[in-house]
Amino acid sequence: MNTKKFYKCEAEAFNGSWYDPEHDSPTIEKHDAENLVRAAARFLGIERPRVYFAEVGSTSAYYPGRGQQYIVFLARGLRQSVVLHEVAHAAVDLSPHKDTGDHGPLFIAFYLRLLSRFGHTKQARRLRKLCDAA
Ligand SMILES: [Zn+2]
Repeated sequence: MNTKKFYKCEAEAFNGSWYDPEHDSPTIEKHDAENLVRAAARFLGIERPRVYFAEVGSTSAYYPGRGQQYIVFLARGLRQSVVLHEVAHAAVDLSPHKDTGDHGPLFIAFYLRLLSRFGHTKQARRLRKLCDAA
């Protein structure tokens, strides 16, 4: 799925974009984000990406490369769902399988597993429906 379309589905599943106050997923502190990355990577059985925090910038991002993969999170207003989103990118990058596009079926499958495992079952179900319909 193309990125713009996926972001639209994601925003709808979470009742707003990540920067909207009404967004369903709570904001978390840096320490909790680090712990969530660790737990999510363990759950998916992947090598844990290094984590950095940016105080300024427009968004969080995953940077690929086996053995040197890392995530830069925008610290302000960081949400659990954003952390899981970036870990799902890591899982695709470290998978032996290729995905189609940045937010393809493999990415979506990892992301939905993480959302369900880490307390966002309802949103995962909504996102699956929206992705299937897109
Ligand atoms: Zn993404």
